[in-house]
Amino acid sequence: MTQRLYYEDPYLKEFDAIVTGCVRKEDQYLVTLDRSAFFPEGGGQSGDRGILVRQNQETVRVLDTRESGEEIAVICPESFSLGEKVRGILDWTWRFDRMQNHSGEHIVSGLVHETYGFNNIGFHMSQDRMTIDLDGEIPEEGLARIEKRANEIVWENVPVRTDLYTPEEAGKVEYRSKKELSGEIRVVSIPGADVCACCGTHVARTGEIGLVKILSHERCKGGVRMELACGRWAYEYLEQVFRQNHEVSMHLSSRMLKTGEAACRLVEENIRLKGSLVGMRYQMIDRKAEEMTDAGNVLIFMEDADAVMAQKLTAKAMETCKGSAFTFAGSDSEGYKYAAGHKDGDLKELVREMNAALDGRGGGKPFFQQGSVQAAREEIEAWLKERLGQLAVSDFL
Ligand SMILES: [Zn+2]
Repeated sequence: MTQRLYYEDPYLKEFDAIVTGCVRKEDQYLVTLDRSAFFPEGGGQSGDRGILVRQNQETVRVLDTRESGEEIAVICPESFSLGEKVRGILDWTWRFDRMQNHSGEHIVSGLVHETYGFNNIGFHMSQDRMTIDLDGEIPEEGLARIEKRANEIVWENVPVRTDLYTPEEAGKVEYRSKKELSGEIRVVSIPGADVCACCGTHVARTGEIGLVKILSHERCKGGVRMELACGRWAYEYLEQVFRQNHEVSMHLSSRMLKTGEAACRLVEENIRLKGSLVGMRYQMIDRKAEEMTDAGNVLIFMEDADAVMAQKLTAKAMETCKGSAFTFAGSDSEGYKYAAGHKDGDLKELVREMNAALDGRGGGKPFFQQGSVQAAREEIEAWLKERLGQLAVSDFL
């Protein structure tokens, strides 16, 4: 049975050990050691990484650490011989990130349990954040209070204590637990926040957690899934948010703490401008239709306009031109949306032929047809001129 050095001293970064087993698994090796400071994956905390140094000073990467029965196995890309002496060196940044986050998770889950009575029913750590599933819904302002209180406990720098109990002793202690436990029970206590049975590694004092930040929350299976980052992960996340906000503040010429208001003003301004632009275009459509008075058959091209604008212009122009009115909105590269109208007329057959000739589709009432074509302006002009004889071509500017 591997001696678990991380329980004796979770800050141990280097240790000597003897290889007690080596099993090949696909292209990797499960290497068991007589003692290990490498923590195996468990309780939501990922397994440790680092290196094993052979006696000839060659180093071999430790990709992950797992439980293997009573033993702890490190996963390596190379094999080791039984009895080989090695020195294990932890990837300390990797481990400490997880200690900060795991300890922060205790504080948040403990406060949630104490305040709302909800349980942490799922815990997962990824590369730079963790998720906690809670079996109840917490109001938004409740989350803000939990986060504030969690950070206060960090600043109070209280000690994180671990006690070992026999099952009989444990029966007298009140603690949170994710599952039924047997044998010796490790109970982790953070005064003011949490008492929880846990097999993970934790910081010695809460001040080392540095910072607790709830990144998001969403309803999930009748409860809440909360995304959380502590310590360096929280710092790096907020550093990115800060840089984004700085960029926004530069673009909007606003102070860093006023970017929300500035963005709101920009959106309102944008809505107002869009509204007045539409108003102006309608006025221009009226003027264009007047221009078309008695022009006979007309073909009008619109750039930067959509199908609705094309329909509006055709509807107006067909009242004044005394012929068939065609409006095409779009461009040669993107294709055109069209509207075709003839007051009291029937353009059905003509438009059907046009669609066939110009890779188009569409339909509508006999006197008013609409659709789209994938053809160039030149082809559209040539085809309509050929069919209609007289045709006044112009642009809507
Ligand atoms: Zn823990």
